Amino acid sequence: MSEIYSGIRESHPNRYNDLGSTGSRAEKDFKNGCLKKADRSFAQGLQCQQINSMAALMSLEDSVFIAHSPQGCVGCTSMAVDQYRVGQAHRGVKHIKNPRIIVTNLDQNNVIFGGESKLRKAIEDAVSRYQPKLIFVFASCASGIIGDDIDAIVKELQKDRQELIIPIHCEGFQSKICASGFDAAFISINKYILKKQKLEKIKGLINLFAPVSISYADQKEMERMLSLLGLSVNYIPFYSSLDKIKQIPAAQASTSICKVFADEFMKTLKEDYDIPYSHTVMPIGVRNTDIWFRGIAGIVGKEKEGEEIIKSEHERILPLVESIKDRLKGKRVFICGGTGRSFAAAALIDDFGMELVGLETPTYDADAQADIEYLNAIHPNYVLDIANMQPFEQVNLVKRLKPDVFIGVPEWAAKLGIPTTHVLDMKRPTMGYDGLLFLGNKIADQLENPGFNVKLSKHIKLPYRDSWYEEDAFKYIIGGD
Ligand code: SF4
Repeated sequence: MSEIYSGIRESHPNRYNDLGSTGSRAEKDFKNGCLKKADRSFAQGLQCQQINSMAALMSLEDSVFIAHSPQGCVGCTSMAVDQYRVGQAHRGVKHIKNPRIIVTNLDQNNVIFGGESKLRKAIEDAVSRYQPKLIFVFASCASGIIGDDIDAIVKELQKDRQELIIPIHCEGFQSKICASGFDAAFISINKYILKKQKLEKIKGLINLFAPVSISYADQKEMERMLSLLGLSVNYIPFYSSLDKIKQIPAAQASTSICKVFADEFMKTLKEDYDIPYSHTVMPIGVRNTDIWFRGIAGIVGKEKEGEEIIKSEHERILPLVESIKDRLKGKRVFICGGTGRSFAAAALIDDFGMELVGLETPTYDADAQADIEYLNAIHPNYVLDIANMQPFEQVNLVKRLKPDVFIGVPEWAAKLGIPTTHVLDMKRPTMGYDGLLFLGNKIADQLENPGFNVKLSKHIKLPYRDSWYEEDAFKYIIGGD
């Protein structure tokens, strides 16, 4: 995320959102420069970047979140609210709070005459009701299209106020890659909070960027692993505070738990504050956890210690992985998730000797190509669906491929009666060496106890005609040939 980066992920070349292929064909086409931008002539709901901007910041202390939008735009926040509430319970908070969300409720009149007065009132209400330290103002499609100048309003209202008011340009129409919402949030954090002011470095302090989808158990596992290298962690922005954000420039190095979270921001931190970073993979499964850990050990000059720790962690967990492998070996798997997590989960199944038959993930780019090359060496024949959601394609593929297990966002596959394991539930361990054991046992348990999903499938019918399952799942992807 350099100064000229717009925050729109499509602005980088060779990034594709719409593709139906196989792993081996996609690898070859990308390598030969034959992939072309396509589109879907029919698409179901996409995850919008506004919700990612909001969710990334929603657990910050003393904050208010103002969506300058029609009220429907904040519908998705229910998921982040749930994560925040559960996260507090896991952290031992006795009086669990909801995040403070205000919606300006832009309506037809505002679309014609402007909605700036509503935004002013919302900011004033936020101050008088909650006395926050931070007020985030999130743009939406509607505010962007009608041209409400949220930057000017914020600038004007910021005068004579202690609380920081921060506009975030996450208009949903700007990008089909929802991770752009993370970038929009970080661009504003840099512009309005950090402001390129360098701090004295704190030796051994690591910025560990974590999205909302990380459970408390995973946070503790990441902190445990980094403490083995003698490092302390500034865990941000999830369950963080203004003080911790202000401490970002003091870190010795940065890393992220997710491959598509803060990756652009870490580039900015290198350019503006001279903070080196490690951007590798999501630490799910033995291979990826090793790579992730080696990356950080390397960036802080502790390669030797890192290798010793990896060796002793392997001695501890590999016998346990073998015992889980006995329960999972040879099972056929379909994986669906965000870009970081789906590729990481695909690497994880190798630990248990499982076979990949289908992979659905939102974006294909040079990073994905590296993962695909690795997967293709192990799994010669799997279907690849590059899609932001699109459950109609997923259920078509799942019905056709008949996997034994589905790993990922499970709603639709569960209704088909297939054993499912959620890797995005934000509540249970997934990451690092300890997370691997929990996740492996969870997959095996669900495979051996499919009763709930089987019963569910008998009582629920997905909203597609039987004829859809006979069609080509990718028939609505147009162009790109
Ligand atoms: S910002 Fe745009 S894409 Fe996002 S929820 Fe609102 S209308 Fe939909």
